[in-house]
Amino acid sequence: NIKNRIDSDLIKKAEVLLEESKQIAIIPHSGPDGDAIGSSLALYQYLKKKGKEPKIISPSDYPVFLNWLPQNSEVLIFPSNKKKAKDYLKSSDLVFIVDHNSFKRSGDLEKILQDLPAKKIMIDHHPEPEHIVDLMFSDTAMCATCELMYEFIEALGDENLIDTHIAECLYTGIVTDTGGLSYNSSNPRTYQIVGDLLARGIDKSKIHSNVYDNFSTDRMKLLGHCLDQGLEVLSEYQTAIITLTKDDLLRFNYKDGDTEGFVNYPLSIQGMLASVIFIEKEDMVKISFRSKGNVPINAVAAEHFNGGGHMNAAGGRTTDKLSEAIAKFKKVLPDFYKSLDV
Ligand code: 5GP
Ligand code: MN
Repeated sequence: NIKNRIDSDLIKKAEVLLEESKQIAIIPHSGPDGDAIGSSLALYQYLKKKGKEPKIISPSDYPVFLNWLPQNSEVLIFPSNKKKAKDYLKSSDLVFIVDHNSFKRSGDLEKILQDLPAKKIMIDHHPEPEHIVDLMFSDTAMCATCELMYEFIEALGDENLIDTHIAECLYTGIVTDTGGLSYNSSNPRTYQIVGDLLARGIDKSKIHSNVYDNFSTDRMKLLGHCLDQGLEVLSEYQTAIITLTKDDLLRFNYKDGDTEGFVNYPLSIQGMLASVIFIEKEDMVKISFRSKGNVPINAVAAEHFNGGGHMNAAGGRTTDKLSEAIAKFKKVLPDFYKSLDV
């Protein structure tokens, strides 16, 4: 499949909605990552070029390694701009729900969005979208919402508006959601899109360096610590667990986003099929799940840890104590492993 993958009837409806709208809110998911912020900023710049008055309202702050993105300073962080954000939303004609498909993932904006009468469009690539919008662009075959955003802009006939800055944002989401184009990115169309973004003048090495070589010394030491002290390999179940306590985070001056990517490391141990990280936060334990191949680790997240996500990358949380959360995981693991075709 080497052509645009957007439904033509759906895009016509989007065209009408866009035409009727001036003030347009863009909402990434809470705890936004490179794909959420990249796709939001790409859409923001595109809508500006179309003469709209867009605003990105992020439900929460995000890691500094994304702050170099073009127009980053235009993002309104909800918790520190509540009044302004609420006022803007109230008078919005249209709201884009980006890189998520349930208001539960809109964090502090959940209630506000639920009650908001404005028309809504979803642009997302996660499984099991909820029917909470007027128009749903939802496709799990997309490696990233940024890939879908490219298709969206192209389907509207506006690919010529994708300048270097927009291309940088889109490329960032594609690389961060595919581990640097390593997984989930075997569709030739993805490379066609990447090729087109390169042709629009992005500096690929600069982007990789901005995203991946932008860590603090503390973060590097925290990684070393958790791989040394916090790693437990359950060979019998081809699964690894990483634990990070509140004290660990304190000791290494934890900043938002510092633990991003940690969960992937154990998957490079020979034979591992799944990796899970338990991070003890102030009021809950945050859990990230990763797996390889046909191991639906999102089922564990959904059934036992109040979460969900993709087959190979999911998240969850619990108010149990850290030790209880880990014990619970170990308890459900044997049955989950038995259910696998390995
Ligand atoms: P992370 O480990 O980065 O928090 O999440 C991994 C993936 O799972 C991301 O694609 C994220 O969107 C998704 N995810 C995280 N938490 C949840 C959740 O509670 N529900 C759903 N449906 N997806 C989640
Ligand atoms: Mn994404």
